[in-house]
Amino acid sequence: MRNVLTYCGLYTLGDEPRRAVMGVAEEVMAGLRKLGAVTGPQRHRGVFVVFDPEAVKLVLDSLCAEAGVQVMFNAFVCGATRADDRIVDLRWHDHGGEHTIRARAFVDASGEGDLAQFAGAATRYGNDGAVNLGTLATRFGGIPRDVVVTADQLTAAVQAAKAAGRGPFSKDRSVLTRLPISGDMVCYLASEDYDPRDALSQSAAERRGRQQAWAYLDVIRSLPGCANAWLASTGPEFGTREARHIEAAHRLAWQDVVEGRPQPDSIALGAWGVEWHDRTTLQSSFIYPPDKTAYEIPLRCLLSRDTGNLFAAGRVVDADRQAGASLRVMGTAFATGQAAGVAAAMLADQGKVDGERVRRVLREQGALVEVSQIT
Ligand SMILES: Cc1cc2nc3c(=O)[nH]c(=O)nc-3n(C[C@H](O)[C@H](O)[C@H](O)COP(=O)(O)OP(=O)(O)OC[C@H]3O[C@@H](n4cnc5c(N)ncnc54)[C@H](O)[C@@H]3O)c2cc1C
Repeated sequence: MRNVLTYCGLYTLGDEPRRAVMGVAEEVMAGLRKLGAVTGPQRHRGVFVVFDPEAVKLVLDSLCAEAGVQVMFNAFVCGATRADDRIVDLRWHDHGGEHTIRARAFVDASGEGDLAQFAGAATRYGNDGAVNLGTLATRFGGIPRDVVVTADQLTAAVQAAKAAGRGPFSKDRSVLTRLPISGDMVCYLASEDYDPRDALSQSAAERRGRQQAWAYLDVIRSLPGCANAWLASTGPEFGTREARHIEAAHRLAWQDVVEGRPQPDSIALGAWGVEWHDRTTLQSSFIYPPDKTAYEIPLRCLLSRDTGNLFAAGRVVDADRQAGASLRVMGTAFATGQAAGVAAAMLADQGKVDGERVRRVLREQGALVEVSQIT
């Protein structure tokens, strides 16, 4: 979670936002609503909801328990065995040492594509030499609820502090939002160019990011009504927007989206824009999907092209630079995660994946798999 507390991708981005992701995402949203722990939809370029970080843990714990999921926190996948074109088992570490799990099907939802890489499946880092920038999410307390801080106000204050030689700062613009229960303010400013596959590189980024967070706190304290602000939390981990993708049977291209190309094996809908954070300029840009509506994500983008029992979810899914910068958001990750799970379960139970049956099961589970389902 890394303190990223705004679900994007659940809604289309037009004047009247429509739900583009349901299924498991809606079960999570219902749990959050019951706890009074989600607000929105609201807007900053796109449409998003804001949730409380402790409430989402409780909701996910109880949904996993109800579904009979055996959960293992703090278990790091560190290797896998491959035989021909399949993964046979994966290895993971806890404080008891190394363990092995055998399975008939696997989903890589690691964000970094670790399982695919360790299993010798084809992967790539970023796209054509470009990798979306990482940012340390930061949470500030002590700002009274009736004090309004706008993104423009913060940008101007950061620019003034930069001009006065204060810092260190990277970005000067971010969404600013208040959490439902605590009223804490969350923003995504402190950014660093690092390699998430390398612990030394990521650790250095994290240390520099924390220095930035304190510098941003100084700026925030200078804003009207914010003198008593404090730094409630950073990360804890640096937030990585992009690392490895699997090489899948198909790579979703943004041009497919622009041309509205129908995807007969669509299993999920993307609704976010191309949100690109540049490593060189530290600037971000946003391109809306055509007509600010949703687009279809084919099952083929989740199926490894060379490892028959490996599926991808979330930001590991195969997509080009622009499509990847859109489908990576958490709302869409709910949808690709659910689809990858259904497909993997089908392969494990029945020995093959039938795309039409995957779509049917997802529909039965309340998921949206085609743009025509949006109401
Ligand atoms: C600063 C920032 C702001 C963002 N803002 C938003 C936003 O406002 N709204 C939005 O929807 N999205 C936002 N995103 C994007 C979003 O956070 C990610 O793209 C999304 O979380 C991707 O989901 P995922 O499940 O693929 O990967 P992740 O969320 O990265 O989850 C991967 C999980 O796998 C675990 N893992 C990794 N490797 C291993 C291993 N070897 N063994 C065991 N476990 C492992 C990790 O610990 C983690 O829990 C933002 C991202 C960043 C960095």
